Amino acid sequence: MLGRSYLSTTVNSLKSHDLLKSIPAVNEILHSEALSDLRASHSHTVFVRWVRLSIDKLREELLGGRETNLEQVHDRLAQYVRALAESDGRRSMQAIVNATGILIHTNLGRAPLSERAIARMLAAANYTNLEFDLETGKRCRRAGRVAELLCQLTGAEDALVVNNCAAATVLALGTLAFGKEVIISRSQLVEIGGGFRLPDVFRSAGVTLREVGTTNRTYCRDYEAAVSQMTGAILRVHHSNFSQVGFVSSPSLRELVAAQAGRQFPIIDDLGSGNVYNLSAYGLAEPSVIESVNTGSDLCLFSGDKLFGGPQCGIILGKTSWIEHLRSNPTLRAMRADKITLAALEGTVEDHLAGRAFQEIPILRMLCKDTEIIRAQCEKVIREVSEHLRARIALVPCISQVGGGALPSQSLPSYGLAVSVPHLNRFARLLRSGSPAVVGRLVENKLVLDLRTVHDREQVFVARRLNELLNSFENLNHK
Ligand SMILES: *Cc1c(COP(=O)(O)O)cnc(C)c1O
Repeated sequence: MLGRSYLSTTVNSLKSHDLLKSIPAVNEILHSEALSDLRASHSHTVFVRWVRLSIDKLREELLGGRETNLEQVHDRLAQYVRALAESDGRRSMQAIVNATGILIHTNLGRAPLSERAIARMLAAANYTNLEFDLETGKRCRRAGRVAELLCQLTGAEDALVVNNCAAATVLALGTLAFGKEVIISRSQLVEIGGGFRLPDVFRSAGVTLREVGTTNRTYCRDYEAAVSQMTGAILRVHHSNFSQVGFVSSPSLRELVAAQAGRQFPIIDDLGSGNVYNLSAYGLAEPSVIESVNTGSDLCLFSGDKLFGGPQCGIILGKTSWIEHLRSNPTLRAMRADKITLAALEGTVEDHLAGRAFQEIPILRMLCKDTEIIRAQCEKVIREVSEHLRARIALVPCISQVGGGALPSQSLPSYGLAVSVPHLNRFARLLRSGSPAVVGRLVENKLVLDLRTVHDREQVFVARRLNELLNSFENLNHK
């Protein structure tokens, strides 16, 4: 056994040795005419890396005994380099057509922005009056205007913007309850996602967790019994990404506020989704930040890029005295939002204030989109696909989800296009390889494209891509 394998290895390596000699030197490929365009448009370092990787790949193929026509080695290498350049390019951040039906899709960047928010971002990309008063020519407070607008919208006394809601939680707890106890119901000790678990957050903010109640039931008197000299805050956390049904109970914010009148510590309401409307007209129940402020939470925290429909940020609304405390924490500097985010947020709040949120803010437009309109749009896309390919696409009822940890048990009836082809994964990958990429959802051997989350302006493109790809798949099958 040993002898035979030794012998065959030797024979192979002799053969490989000759083959390996046929691989061109790195320098030769670097200067090849066939790749002059790539060489001109990319940095030398990047280009060299692609060439080396391509040579490695070819070497492995030769050693692996893959049959190779030595005359074509140069062409093969050029092809590998091009493929690497292309796949690198596809990894750059780009626009995507979201046909998953998940409105707030964390992997796809959560909320798409309104036209106004986008215009503001572009303007702010230049020098901008971030901390500069054009009237007086003097320095002014960063994000002063957006804080004012947030207060106008919600009725809060003051507002502060940080990088995300997780940062808002850490800042609030670490500033107002450092070295003290934070009281929280056992039913609210949640993991928000991405490993952001409240008990860990408490620890890292330097506060002591004081859990009260049980998993399913917590009463006002549980909080009352836990309040002491050591209390730094009461924290309420919205159930965002899960729901409890059955024998459950917890005090409302109103009850808690009433029971803790005269307190020296804040009641912090972490709402997450940042809804500012009564969504019951759409069959959805989600607490509103305006209600929280009106009910008397001292601080209300939420994300800018969930139902609020703006850029990623954490918004803190609340009483001036508490917010001033947060402003004076030097850690705030490490969490403050940048000018592009603040500009986008300003545009988004203006859309809310103008009373045009459900027309202008994409997340809300999608949320309230009429199911019959979605159905008609699906039918239109199908009509735009060539007749002989239409058998591959069916109009199907489906369910959209709000996502992003908002309204977990509530779903939105919708319609989608169900594509069924052999090699479905390959089809899905090809849809993702275009520009823009189209991302759908694989459901029971079908690729479903839910049009609720596809902007109206993108639907012609979806029809064209489907037509192109179905056509090429059809041709494949006939070969
Ligand atoms: C989503 C969410 C957060 C985290 O918000 P990020 O902006 O992603 O940091 C915190 N709390 C609640 C209740 C949430 O739903």
